[in-house]
Amino acid sequence: MKFIPTLCLVLAAFASLAQPKSTWVFQPDRVFDGTDMHEGWVVVVEGNQITAAGPKASVNAPKDAQVVAMPGLTLLPGLIEGHSHLLLYPYNITDWDTQVLKESDSYRTVRATVHARNTLMAGFTTVRDLGTEGAGYSDVALKRAINEGIIPGPRMIVAGRAIVSTGSYGPKGYDTDQTIMLGAEAADGNDLIRVVRDQIGKGADFVKVYADYRWGTKGEDQPSFTLEELKLINEVTRSSGRYLVCHAKSTEAMRRAILAGAETIEHGDFIDEEIAQLMKQHNVTFYPTVAAIDAINQYRGWKKGKDEEPAPVKNKKKSLSIAVKAGVTIGLGGDVGVFPHGENVYELELMGEYGGMKGLDLLRAATTVNARALHMENEIGSIRPGLKADLVAVKGDPTKSISELRKVVFVMKEGVVYRNEK
Ligand SMILES: [Zn+2]
Repeated sequence: MKFIPTLCLVLAAFASLAQPKSTWVFQPDRVFDGTDMHEGWVVVVEGNQITAAGPKASVNAPKDAQVVAMPGLTLLPGLIEGHSHLLLYPYNITDWDTQVLKESDSYRTVRATVHARNTLMAGFTTVRDLGTEGAGYSDVALKRAINEGIIPGPRMIVAGRAIVSTGSYGPKGYDTDQTIMLGAEAADGNDLIRVVRDQIGKGADFVKVYADYRWGTKGEDQPSFTLEELKLINEVTRSSGRYLVCHAKSTEAMRRAILAGAETIEHGDFIDEEIAQLMKQHNVTFYPTVAAIDAINQYRGWKKGKDEEPAPVKNKKKSLSIAVKAGVTIGLGGDVGVFPHGENVYELELMGEYGGMKGLDLLRAATTVNARALHMENEIGSIRPGLKADLVAVKGDPTKSISELRKVVFVMKEGVVYRNEK
């Protein structure tokens, strides 16, 4: 394999705008094109685009192309994280309240630049970031710095501050004489019109709403917005050409979110048969965020494999199994940030462990399913002519074991190589 040292390539990434148009022909053992696995395929990249992909004999490579043999490797579309928080880091290092209340937006953004780099190096070339949790519009700034080639990171689709109802969201439990800054922006009733528009004006690519939160009398998840409020949010969001995304765990909040027009449901801890069918009827994509539940319960002392499974883990298993059995569209979105950035594949491993998903279905969840959920299926998520040259190569065959996706040796985003190892 003809490889240029990693350092040079990382440096090249910073000078990406000045790079001459280069042409590549990749010859891995197999290519996952976003739908199926193909042996003996080659992929051609010219500049920032994929220009050809198919069986070696059928592809005419340009004469000036740099041929890259990739023995033993699988080439895939750049992976897509469906639910990240680049402005957060694991709660076993610093709890959520402290990150939100005691860390400045500047400090958090500096940390986030490292999270962005780690995400890209793990093969995730795009993330849908679901809220800064108290760091204002730092996600919009981070996205800009990445797009301008100032720092390495994934392409970002961002929510900004996200919306919660008054009284529902945290941090909580402080002296009520104090005004405590929330992890998202509170709004209710007709004021939601102004807040949705304000968030869009400040850079939100979609609108994220907490349709429920754990504010029941026993701390259980209860709806936080009425159906009418959610419909209003959806109407205002849609008229700007954007879409609505809802955090929802309880069956009632999921029902309201789906009926109001939310395109994706985040968490969904209590999916039943009826909700699963409703999701299918309304073409909703489900993000189970299994890894967040798994990590949080371990932070709380659960010894996985030894102790009995805590209730949230049992609920998640049941919910995911019902969704899988019903044929709900399920994307990869781990709520990464709760666990370390760059460990995004953990979610896919647990989608297998908790829900019995495997092989191509897991790879599709990380590529084509997520590209569609982001309304970007004509730009990313597949290896076919005309799409952006986002490519990842891993050792081995990830349909045999999804953990092979951790063995990343090559990362290209829009034709720029960020990682290249033997
Ligand atoms: Zn989240």
